[in-house]
Formats: sequence, C-alpha cells, structure tokens
Amino acid sequence: MKKFRLICPTPTSVFIADKLLLSGLDFEKWERPNSIRQGLLTALNRGQSVVAVCALGIIVRVLSDAKLPAKTAQTPIICITENGKFAIPVLGGHNGANRLAQIVAASTDGQAIVTTASDQSFDIALDDPPDGWAMVADPRQFSNFMQALLEEGRANLNEAPQWVKDSSIPHNEAAKLKISVDERSTDNNLTFVQTSRLAVGIGCERGCSASDIYALLVEAEQALKLSLDDAIFGSIDIKQDEGALVEIAPEMRFFTAEELAQKKVPNPSDIVLKEVGTPSVAEASALALAGKDATLILPKIKNQRATLAVAKSKSPMSSDFPGRGRSHLSIVGLGPGSEDLCSEQAWSALIQSTKWVGYSLYLDQAEQFAGEARQRLDFKLGDEEARCRAALDAASKGKRVALICSGDPQVYAMAQVVYELLARHPERSEWQQTFVETLPGITAMSALAAKVGAPLGHDFCAISLSDLNTPWEVIEKKVKAAAESDFVIGFYNPKSRTRNWQLPRAIEILARNRPDDCPVAFGRNVARADENITLTTLSDLNPDDIDMFTCVIVGASFTQRHKNFMFTPRGYKLS
Ligand code: SAH
Repeated sequence: MKKFRLICPTPTSVFIADKLLLSGLDFEKWERPNSIRQGLLTALNRGQSVVAVCALGIIVRVLSDAKLPAKTAQTPIICITENGKFAIPVLGGHNGANRLAQIVAASTDGQAIVTTASDQSFDIALDDPPDGWAMVADPRQFSNFMQALLEEGRANLNEAPQWVKDSSIPHNEAAKLKISVDERSTDNNLTFVQTSRLAVGIGCERGCSASDIYALLVEAEQALKLSLDDAIFGSIDIKQDEGALVEIAPEMRFFTAEELAQKKVPNPSDIVLKEVGTPSVAEASALALAGKDATLILPKIKNQRATLAVAKSKSPMSSDFPGRGRSHLSIVGLGPGSEDLCSEQAWSALIQSTKWVGYSLYLDQAEQFAGEARQRLDFKLGDEEARCRAALDAASKGKRVALICSGDPQVYAMAQVVYELLARHPERSEWQQTFVETLPGITAMSALAAKVGAPLGHDFCAISLSDLNTPWEVIEKKVKAAAESDFVIGFYNPKSRTRNWQLPRAIEILARNRPDDCPVAFGRNVARADENITLTTLSDLNPDDIDMFTCVIVGASFTQRHKNFMFTPRGYKLS
C-alpha cells in the first residue's frame, strides 16, 4: 500500500499530481469527483496519510462528521490549494504532516503553512522525528522539555542525532537541557531511538481480537515511552492466518517453532511449549527479529488472550528482515465490470498483492482498475482447479496473492474451490497456514436487477444453466421447483456455443407456472463498455439474443412492469 493518498478530484488539481510525481513522491491517486469524503475516510481507515487538493472547509466538515477511531485521530492530513501555492497540515502536524507539507510545498514551488509551536521557533518538530526515529518520552515529559527549551533557548547537542544537530536549536555544552540518543528521557534530557532497531513479538490465542493485541501495544508504548508505529512485528508461523494479527500488522515476519525454541528467553512457559512446540512466542519472536546481540527492552506482558514483548537490535535493521512474510490469499471479486462497482476493499487487495492469479480477461480488467501491472499468472477459461492451486501455492510462499474473479468470487466462481481444496488437503500444512479471505463483489444478477428497477424485491434464487459439472436432470429439477415455488430466478451461464438447448427448455418449464406477460430482463455485459439491457416478457424472450455474457432474470408470477422497469412487490399494503 502507498504511504499516502492524493485526493485530486478536479481536472485542475491533476497538475499537482504531476508535480508530485516528478519529484519522486510515492502516492496513490484518488481522482473520483464528488467523493472527497469517501477518499479521505477510506484512506484514514487504511492508515494512509492524505494530501487533499480542495478547500480546507471540506476537510473540516468531513472530519467533524466522522467518528474516527482514536488511532486515526493523528493521521497526517494536508490540504493543498488548487494552484499549489499553500500546503496546510490540518491534522497530525507532529505525526509527519508538517514534514509532508514541506515536501509537497517544495515540489509545487509553494509554501507550507505550519502552525505548531516548536517548528516556528527552531525549524524542527522534535516530536515528529524523521522516518526511522522515535522519541522516547511521554507527552508530559515532552511538553515540559519543550517549555524549558523555549525558555532556555539552547541545549547540549553533543550526543543528539544528526537531524537534531542540523536544526536551528542553538548548541551549548554547558546547557542544562540535553538531547541524546538511546537513554531514558528525563525532564531535562530528551532522547530518541532508531525505530529500525525495535522488534515486537506477539503471541495470541486462536480467534483473539485485534483489540486484545492493541491494548497490549498501548501498554507497551506507555511503559517504554515511545511509539511502536514503525517497529517490525513478528510471531510464530502457525499464526499467519490469525485475523487479528492481519489487522494489527499487515506486514509481519514469521518463525517456525524450532527457530523460536532456540532463543533464550527470561519467561519460558511449559504450557506454551506443550501447545505450539516452543516455550516462548512473544519474547522469542522479538529476539529472533532483532538478531544477534539484541536486548529485550520489554519482557513479556500479557492479557487473557495475547502476549507481547519488545526487543532492540544492536544496530539498525535492514529491510531484509529475518523470518518469512505472511502467506495471504485474497479471493477478490471485481464486480460486474465498471470500476465504480468494484469495492474499495477489493481494490485495496489488488494494490497490495504482489501476484495476481486468474483468467486473463479478469487480470486485464484488474490492471485497468489498479493501474500498475503486477506479476501475473494468467489462465485460460476453465482450469479452475489449476488456478486455485496455483494461487494457494504462490501465497503459501509467504506472499500476498490475489485470486481474481468477476462479479462476486463466491457466485459460480473460484472461492468455493479454494475452500474445497483446503478441506480436502489437511496434509498441506503450508496451505493450512495461509490466511485466506473472500472479498465480496457485486454479482451479475444484482447489477442487472439494479439496472431494471427492483426485480429481486421478494424471494429469489440463482440457477446456473451450465451442465458441464452438474447433470442436466439435477438442474431441471431445480428449475421446476423454483417455478412451482414462484421464486424470481436469475439465470447464470444461460448459453454457450455448445450448450444451446438448456435455456429454451428452462423457459418451457417456467411457462407452465407463469403468465405469458411475466416480466423478464436480460443484460449482456452489464456495467461494461458494450452493455446491453433488454426488458421483455416470458413469451417474447428470444434465446437467440442471449449468450454466455448474459444474465437473465425471470420475474415471479406477480412481478410487475411499469414504464421501463420491473419490480417484485413484497406485500406491503401501500396506499
Ligand atoms: N462470479 C460471477 C459469475 C461468473 S459465472 C458473478 O458473480 O457475477 C459467468 C456468468 O455470469 C456468465 O455466463 C453470465 O451469465 C454472468 N455474468 C457475469 N458477468 C456478467 C456481466 N457483466 N453481465 C452479464 N452477465 C454476467
């Protein structure tokens, strides 16, 4: 996921995007007009910073209406004027917004309007250290220190990090105040630590909630007086599929029980050993992540469902962290065709995956939606089992993979094949450890129904007329039962070049229970460029107009038609 989202909803604001691109900033664009609110809130929910090219008032209104969770309350938000002249940090000034505003303003030849105190005096935000650094002080200590610094006007910077030395804080060896690295803060000494040296190990019970772990994180931050936002997280490999961990730390490293058991820890547990094969998960994972000569700066803390420990490495860690990444398979539904009917969640999974698996046409479509080309694993139509096996195999190598379907991935698509394979192969431990999620989409029947009004207003069912994997007798039985029970019916796979008699047969069965003028809608390529939607009646329906890109909805006996729409009443006594 990109670190920040640029909201540029108008054509004139796009020029700002071009300038930021030229200066090498890495961001994702949100260009949808009339949806600044959605763009802003979804970014905050995903933990992304926001740069919005719009009036400040719009941002203020959105934020004041939204009930944001506490953890997003300081996420950097910057408002930039359409001419690029002014960049204003609105929220999270000392959480990166001031710095981001400076960078953005520099790339548009504008000016950052910084309104927080220390920045004005010393040209530096001490409580917003640059990437890779965290302040070791609680808010009270920091505010005492800042007050003293503003009064004294100088500090001893001999042991300060370079970025502090580079600021305009006057250095004086005799000063009472000191800024340094790696010690404990006091009211007179503000200290910093390199976050690339912090490793958080987490252990948890099956089904534990994210809030259980979050509570421990907050406790650890308070005890250590530093932010763990940029720390690296680790755990045992059998917890790769734990939903709470996915939520807390999407990027996490995992170790085997054997690797963890080798670590000497202060608080080993026999119960943990019996359950997972290593006497420690939290402490051992933190130490395993932080490497040789690491120190445990926070031994295990725990609540009912989770444990957490923090270690510090001897030197900053590189991005080539020990352990393996999470095996993560997202089964993604793109919706029926157009980008605006693809869910935010599905889109975000596309962006975050490193590999896409699926039928070539769907992968092409995903590229239209998500912009950048990913590593593609293309398959022909059919090959369902091979597609799903390939997706599971690719994900179980510690990667995030998207298995891409059209519409809803659960509706006549790949999702159930993945779960069926998982159930059939308990011996494939690498598959079993993979975090598998189904991200729903708008299915063809629902998209078509919406185009013609509300035909699904009362009980309905969906029937696939493909007899490739289901014997025709079984399908015919369902059509008869649905006809007799007076369900509205959505037909998928109504026809193909080789299967041409099934739809006429289904219509013949339905005609026994429904009037000739029973409303029928069919849509070819709904929500795609060559969409074609027709409203007709059961007796006028011509199967020649229908092919494999078409979905058909046959109304119930009491479905009605009015002007160019159809609807199925639910029995409300309307006046
Ligand atoms: N998972 C898909 C269905 C795949 S089965 C979904 O949820 O929509 C393939 C069948 O779906 C096609 O034969 C057709 O009947 C229907 N279909 C899928 N996309 C469609 C679209 N955009 N317009 C009309 N029918 C569509």
